[in-house]
Amino acid sequence: DGLLLDVEDLHVEFRTRDGLARAINGVSFELRQDETLAILGESGSGKSVTAQAIMGILDTPPAFVTAGAVRYCGTDLIGLDEKVMRSVRGDEIAMIFQDALSSLNPVFSVGWQIAEMFRVHRGMNRRDAEAEAIRLMERVRIPGARERVHNYPHQFSGGMRQRIMIAMAIALDPKVLIADEPTTALDVTVQAQIMDLLKELQADSHMGLILITHDLGVVADVADRIGVMYAGRLVEKADVFDLYADPAHPYTLGLLESIPRLDQQGERLNAIGGLPPNLTRIPAGCPFHPRCRFATDICRAGDPPPLLEVAPGRRVACHHYDQLLGQHLLETERER
Ligand code: SF4
Ligand code: MG
Repeated sequence: DGLLLDVEDLHVEFRTRDGLARAINGVSFELRQDETLAILGESGSGKSVTAQAIMGILDTPPAFVTAGAVRYCGTDLIGLDEKVMRSVRGDEIAMIFQDALSSLNPVFSVGWQIAEMFRVHRGMNRRDAEAEAIRLMERVRIPGARERVHNYPHQFSGGMRQRIMIAMAIALDPKVLIADEPTTALDVTVQAQIMDLLKELQADSHMGLILITHDLGVVADVADRIGVMYAGRLVEKADVFDLYADPAHPYTLGLLESIPRLDQQGERLNAIGGLPPNLTRIPAGCPFHPRCRFATDICRAGDPPPLLEVAPGRRVACHHYDQLLGQHLLETERER
């Protein structure tokens, strides 16, 4: 059925000076071939930590997967030997990060760095590896790849550097690509071009794609499904269209309302007041209650509301989801 990743009830904790930070508190999702899942949330919501747990690169500050499974094609990656994980990374699951400049080595040409993937992982000789690097630079649509293969990272624009990172990530034909805020440092036009490129590469290779973002606007056109994270939990999961047209969780509604509109010149309207909770002291009840305009007494005590299926393909963790679901609160505004 094309199931690539099956993350089940993942828990991650960090030891900090303030005590135990509960960064991930029971996250579950699946990813299939050809599918694009966006994971959306503010910084500190646990999106990046989820990605790092999948990649097996959780180490600084001291972090631990305390429960749950990350099954890749049926094999649980949690606790796998680091030697095995090293071959999973890149070959099976690859990741790109926000900041291409600090991920690339300034003293080697980009072609050398891409070619290294083939020398190290495929045992290719220098000449063949460089030919592969050029092929990949063309595949990610870097103009003049043959001439630019010997250029250094600082000689490329931010968007071109991100393409180089993508080239390295797809070099070994991974089945899963995780992109953590891949376009945050880029301007809006370049963001769209990078998203188009990721979609195009996915169509060719049938990768499963996970896009981690704080900006719903960036992923709207490319994601199939969206998971919204808050305080280390998924609070809403839906098909992208359903989530946009009819958000069911108050936090999702807040994120949608804070997308800058073209006629507002980037001004953030109705940005959600307050801050995400300190993960060493997550409030009782629904973790979102201190910031939620729909909160009532039952939201302020007991366990967090469970992530329940409230309609086919839709899950939401909110005691009062029925006040939002079906109300199409944003419809008129979206249609303008
Ligand atoms: Fe708001 Fe209550 Fe729903 Fe939490 S459970 S999002 S506090 S209405
Ligand atoms: Mg992050």
